[in-house]
Amino acid sequence: MNFVLSGYHQAKREEFRRFARQEIDTGDHYPEANLKKAAQKGYMGLPLPPEWGGGGEDFLTYTILIEELSRVCASTGAIIAVHTSVGTFPLYYFGTEDQKKRYLSGLARGELLGAFALTEAEAGSDAASLSATASRSGDGYILNGCKLFITSGDRADLYTVFATVDRSLGYKGITAFLMEKGTPGLTPGKPEKKMGLNRSNTTEVRMEDLYIPASNRLGEEGSGFSIAMSLLDGGRIGIAAQGLGLAQAVIDYTTAFLKEQEEYSGRETGQYKAFELADLATKLEAARLLVYRAALVKDSGQKCSKEASMAKYYTTDLAMEAATRCIDLCGFPAAGTSNPLTGYFCDAKAPQIYEGTNQIQRLVVSRELLGK
Ligand SMILES: Cc1cc2nc3c(=O)[nH]c(=O)nc-3n(C[C@H](O)[C@H](O)[C@H](O)COP(=O)(O)OP(=O)(O)OC[C@H]3O[C@@H](n4cnc5c(N)ncnc54)[C@H](O)[C@@H]3O)c2cc1C
Repeated sequence: MNFVLSGYHQAKREEFRRFARQEIDTGDHYPEANLKKAAQKGYMGLPLPPEWGGGGEDFLTYTILIEELSRVCASTGAIIAVHTSVGTFPLYYFGTEDQKKRYLSGLARGELLGAFALTEAEAGSDAASLSATASRSGDGYILNGCKLFITSGDRADLYTVFATVDRSLGYKGITAFLMEKGTPGLTPGKPEKKMGLNRSNTTEVRMEDLYIPASNRLGEEGSGFSIAMSLLDGGRIGIAAQGLGLAQAVIDYTTAFLKEQEEYSGRETGQYKAFELADLATKLEAARLLVYRAALVKDSGQKCSKEASMAKYYTTDLAMEAATRCIDLCGFPAAGTSNPLTGYFCDAKAPQIYEGTNQIQRLVVSRELLGK
């Protein structure tokens, strides 16, 4: 068993770290320029095969990319993670040759931005109860419904959207479709005002009598729920990597701050703070092993639901714990709205919620343990 990254993966980490530090801007506007630069480097489709415009890297390398990006700008990390793992992989795994020819290279090269539209007002954790409908019409389907909290909902060029062909069938009626930007009847909402990750737009996506040709149905009728669930394992590893990057950023900032403060604090206070920091750094290393292990299990082709869920909830809870503890450790200045720790604290909330809340991750893990 090797607990040390290979020379190849260490070199990739250095490359991604350099890119994130030197090229990524941390302003408060939509990170269009960051996405363009990432596309130029081939980072918008890193784990996709080269024949489809991707970087041909393994999932572990992609995980390290999201970690390093999120350490500098969590919103940029979130947009690229969603675009790759649930915005592009549905098409790669389940698309026909014709669908791939039309969209896949564009997505993998970052010329097109992908989104994943599953959540509705009454269907978040319980995605199987979604109510958007897809009625057969001629050689296609008419979609009606409203999706909520969709990452890049107002920016995406291609959405993987889920609707039911027959609600009485429950999850067996759910079907996936590829929906192009600009399709008549498609109305994205305005970005939600969130507490964090504000450079990543999260919007409503409304569909009114929207026609999708049968050639844009992804998979068979009724296979949408299993498509959605199968994608979430990879998606959750990406979110876990965001948690890692955020927790690392919190610890980096606090370490530098406490070093500067050292000469002013008394001996006992200093030791208490140093021990708190040691605890967080230890948890972070444990979290990193969980995330990389989940990525390695995925790379091996084995089922990784339990590993992905463990990694997702442990790291994203840790990012929130680290931000909360470090604001305490750094004292009043750290609670100011312009302090980076406040920003990390706010950014850490959404990763605990999306791609399955951390309660749902515990449900996944406990079901596996109990054999349910
Ligand atoms: C920033 C952001 C970006 C997002 N991006 C996307 C996106 O791109 N695409 C997309 O489709 N969705 C997206 N979402 C939606 C996200 O996936 C949902 O918010 C999430 O699945 C939870 O659903 P909900 O908000 O309806 O909460 P609910 O499901 O209503 O849950 C409310 C509370 O009840 C708990 N709960 C629910 N069921 C159970 C249970 N069985 N056992 C224990 N506890 C339970 C939950 O853990 C939570 O604490 C995004 C959300 C956010 C915040």
